[in-house]
Amino acid sequence: MANRSLVFRNFYAFGQSVAEIAQAVEAIGPDMVGIASQFTAYYQSVARLAAAIKAKTGLPIFIGGHHASFFDREIRRRTPQIDYVLKGAAETAVPAFLASLKTGHAFKVNPVQWKKVTPAHELIEPCHYVMGWKKYISLIAGRGCPYHCDFCSVHRMFGRRIEYRGVKAVLNEMRFNYTHRGVRIFNFEDDNLSFDTRWFARFLNAVIDDPVLKQVELTAMNGICYPTLDEALLALMRRAGFKQLNLALVTRDFALKRRLRRPAPDRDFEQILAAARRLGFFVTVYVIIGLPGQSYAEIKESIDYLLGLDVLVGPSVFYLPPGSTLYDRIEAPREVLNNWNLYRSSAFAVETPQLDRKALIDLVAYTRKRNLENRPLPAQRAVEGKDRKHQVLKRLKYEIKIDKNHKNQAVESYNPQSADPFLPRNR
Ligand code: SF4
Repeated sequence: MANRSLVFRNFYAFGQSVAEIAQAVEAIGPDMVGIASQFTAYYQSVARLAAAIKAKTGLPIFIGGHHASFFDREIRRRTPQIDYVLKGAAETAVPAFLASLKTGHAFKVNPVQWKKVTPAHELIEPCHYVMGWKKYISLIAGRGCPYHCDFCSVHRMFGRRIEYRGVKAVLNEMRFNYTHRGVRIFNFEDDNLSFDTRWFARFLNAVIDDPVLKQVELTAMNGICYPTLDEALLALMRRAGFKQLNLALVTRDFALKRRLRRPAPDRDFEQILAAARRLGFFVTVYVIIGLPGQSYAEIKESIDYLLGLDVLVGPSVFYLPPGSTLYDRIEAPREVLNNWNLYRSSAFAVETPQLDRKALIDLVAYTRKRNLENRPLPAQRAVEGKDRKHQVLKRLKYEIKIDKNHKNQAVESYNPQSADPFLPRNR
């Protein structure tokens, strides 16, 4: 049996504490306060923040975002400190909301053109976002996805028509952050960055030819849809600065994929992996663990298949996805559906007749252990037997040390077993 101590135990919050944010809001003295509420699992933080700001300032508070769009009524019921809940993308929802406040009526206004908006990067400290020793930012080049995967809700916020920003606009954002903020890694959070291969190739060529962006690293940690890739595109990605490739396989089971409307012809997968390897990519492939209808044997088979291809396997534990087609037909106990804290992978909350919580945890621990054994670092490849075990233990100790560092830097920790799960920390 896999070692279950290898799975997650705690969550930490970094940055300013709730009290500090409320104090900062009071110091600014705005007319009202808007809070983004994107993820159901983190709603408790939004609710606590809203309560603290309301207590400190008495200001009207509105929230918006993915979570707010799907649970608007329930949010008003649970959190009376929140005065307004906006649905849909902020560029449309906020101008209409502000106009309606002035007139007292629902009012149609022109939405803000999201493709022309650049995030206010100058508001964050670049040194707070570091990968290795390098500063990084996350950004988006496009929105939406034309596919219909049952477990996805992207279309409910951004539609099924995929749209991209102009290549020039994306490059300007990157150059600004490179030159003025010292950023060297750019992570694209797009839903489907490579879907329009012509746009993607134009963008990659522009990065390659750009005199400022020559040494940057590009990542797409949300995952790239591998059926859109071929060797020519992979070669361009490599030249533009991609070193890692994060691919989403979901499952090897074709019938299950079809049932979930996941478009992915597996016939090209191994060719793409072989091309990626030739080009020197570090490849991570994600599988979902715990989808309704999945069996233990099928998941393990998918994991072993990928391990055999010598890639890092990313186990994504299935969690409740509000707004998706699957969410409406999922059979989960009421206490799970009502507990938004459980809408996260690490809660292992969605049990099915085929997979209970223990089986889910075992599969993740198994993947993690095998990944550690297979970790394709040259120094580890060179050692075998006892020495290899020693390397794995060393790695585990290193990760425990990192965990301790996180604990020391956190402003709050979250322990799901505790009666009061949020534990403020002394800084
Ligand atoms: S899971 Fe990915 S490919 Fe499927 S619909 Fe969502 S964004 Fe598109």
